[in-house]
Amino acid sequence: MTNLDILAKGADALGIELSNLQIGQFQSYLGSLAEWNKRTNLTSPAALENAERVHLLDSLTLIPLIRREAPNAQRLVDVGSGAGFPGLALKIAMPELHVVLVEATRKKAEFLKSMASSLGLGDVEVLAERAEAVARHDGYRQAFDVATARAIGQLSLVLELTLPLCKIGGVLMAQRGDDAQTEATSAAKVSNTLGGGKPIVEPAPAAEMEMRGSIAVVRKLSETPGRFPRRDGIPAKRPLT
Ligand code: SAH
Repeated sequence: MTNLDILAKGADALGIELSNLQIGQFQSYLGSLAEWNKRTNLTSPAALENAERVHLLDSLTLIPLIRREAPNAQRLVDVGSGAGFPGLALKIAMPELHVVLVEATRKKAEFLKSMASSLGLGDVEVLAERAEAVARHDGYRQAFDVATARAIGQLSLVLELTLPLCKIGGVLMAQRGDDAQTEATSAAKVSNTLGGGKPIVEPAPAAEMEMRGSIAVVRKLSETPGRFPRRDGIPAKRPLT
């Protein structure tokens, strides 16, 4: 196993200090990810090969923005967490946060539960449910300071699944690809319908030279109408326009 030099250097560039305990947690996280991935499809072999960069550091690029946009954040929800990116990686780096990981695929949720417990992380909840259902539960709807979601689909889908979970004044931070600006412009109206402000695209802070990306930041300004999110599967099947 590597000693996570890439992660340590990248975190440093992001202004994040990682203790030996945290580096050790990231190490066992990657070890278990490789182990579980032999039996369960959690990540692609290529991504696993570069997991330090494409999974761990990529998750941590949200931290400077979280510190800037939600400096007093206590509760974070990650929707469609998969193998824990960015939600579980953020929890390791920011242990003071209460983190809820929403992951509908049972095997992946099992992995997340197993990780939270073996890494000794307190204050992590793993919900093996769809975000559409979670957003209707008391204690979860409009209950989060920060929502994240990576690689779950187009921005309007992300908005419908996450804005109902954000408190008014809370913020969505979604890692996006190359067409982020176009997407953000065309999702402005959908965001407004859901109680969100205009999506602002920020360049992801460079953790190292080879990394680039962008993050869509959306502030929740008013209550999300009760009819959103629509029932299970509809937000993905018929994204709001
Ligand atoms: N965020 C992770 C995983 C991306 S794959 C990463 O970037 O690596 C998308 C994941 O979202 C899948 O694991 C899928 O099961 C989950 N997912 C998709 N739609 C969902 C929904 N409506 N509710 C909960 N989980 C969902």
